[in-house]
Amino acid sequence: MAIKNAYLLDLLERTKKRNSNEPEFIQAVTEVFTSLEPVIEQRPDLVDAGVLERIVEPERQIMFRVPWIDDNGKPHVNRGYRVQFNSAIGPYKGGIRLHPSVNLGIIKFLGFEQIFKNSLTTLPMGGAKGGSDFDPKGKSDNEIMNFCQSFMTELSKYIGADCDVPAGDIGTGAREIGFMFGQYKKIRNEWVGVLTGKGIPYGGSLARTEATGFGLCYFTKEMLAANGTSFDGKTVLISGSGNVAIYACQKAQSYGAKVVAMSDSNGYIYDKNGIDLDLVKQIKEVRRGRIKEYVDVHKDAEYHEGCKGIWTIPCDIALPCATQNEIDGESAKILVKNGCKVVSEGANMPSTPEAIDTYLANGVLYGPAKAANAGGVATSGLEMCQNSMRLAWTFEEVDEKLHNIMKSIFKACDENAKKYGMPGNYMAGANIAGFIKVAEAMKAQGNV
Ligand code: NDP
Repeated sequence: MAIKNAYLLDLLERTKKRNSNEPEFIQAVTEVFTSLEPVIEQRPDLVDAGVLERIVEPERQIMFRVPWIDDNGKPHVNRGYRVQFNSAIGPYKGGIRLHPSVNLGIIKFLGFEQIFKNSLTTLPMGGAKGGSDFDPKGKSDNEIMNFCQSFMTELSKYIGADCDVPAGDIGTGAREIGFMFGQYKKIRNEWVGVLTGKGIPYGGSLARTEATGFGLCYFTKEMLAANGTSFDGKTVLISGSGNVAIYACQKAQSYGAKVVAMSDSNGYIYDKNGIDLDLVKQIKEVRRGRIKEYVDVHKDAEYHEGCKGIWTIPCDIALPCATQNEIDGESAKILVKNGCKVVSEGANMPSTPEAIDTYLANGVLYGPAKAANAGGVATSGLEMCQNSMRLAWTFEEVDEKLHNIMKSIFKACDENAKKYGMPGNYMAGANIAGFIKVAEAMKAQGNV
């Protein structure tokens, strides 16, 4: 899909020029602008209020030094980031990514996406993202703690329960959130819900661990039902074997799907009998091992090096749950050729623009990340709510709220796609629904 509106084209050019070394950020802005064309034509007041110029510029971006000491006493320095993108509808909210690939452009694309995703959840949360190029892989618990404490020592100056509430993302799980929370509490001498994804004994929400993966399947189930089908009996590919992938697998299996493949950043496993999820959990969650260890137990399963090959396995449904741009145009064509009818995104921006064009051109049901994976941040919003009320809901209560939120997100995508003349294009529906709420708030609050 190409943008034709002259105003959007001009603003996109200016955004590209200003952020020329941030390809992922430009990719995310281009995708949103593509969907917004009909809105801009019907709402010149939003253009006049400068909403779009403002929405592509973060309110604030913070970069800082993170010094830490390894177990041999050697000093290291990483770079920390927090991009506070938009606070029009609530306190900044978004995860912290710890991965060697992290740079400002990646954090900005994630923060930009987060604005619309958080808006879709129906909860009052603004958009932000943070992280560091620190690689947690192979580090001892002590080194992880040392890094997390140093990271939070600086970050604590800029966040707060009513200002900015970070959470987990790639490389940041319960262990890292625990260390960061402890350091924040020590520095500020206050116990507040400043991070989500906390452990259950100290203010975490039940069902937060499962939320993104479960939410992805709740959204996908709605999308399938709206198109007269279901998970039952379908063959499913899931990339990744981290937090999102594991709980997407669990829910998809509970809906009667057969998940035949999962992966990590080294390679993928194919088990034609269906993935043994207890074993994957044992390897990845308990031992922090590699996915290839799966074939040591299941001898008739296959392990292949490299990540792309997973998309060559025939399937009905693909759930990319690893990282950005993991399905390119070529992989998308192979998926379609092999009969894949549904792609629903657990990871953030896992499909390249060429891949999305391929889905849309071939009638593949496409659940875009900012809608399909919003269950994680939605449940983080529910965690904030419980912390503020000094209450803890049961697993069932949180899960039911999550389920209802995912249903309402699908409804918003479906209805807005229809209203703006693009029925079935849930990407457009998600971008429009997420944008309009934030844009109205920005217009009402004046040129700030
Ligand atoms: P985890 O760190 O728990 O797992 C990430 C998984 O993806 C691992 O299997 C990892 O493999 C794999 N992976 C990471 N980087 C790459 C890469 N460059 N190439 C191939 N595989 C890779 O992260 P999450 O499960 O939390 O996050 C996965 C995705 O979901 C991310 O895009 C994240 O932004 C998104 N997301 C997460 C949410 C959450 O609540 N956790 C909420 C919404 C979105 P390895 O073990 O080898 O590193």
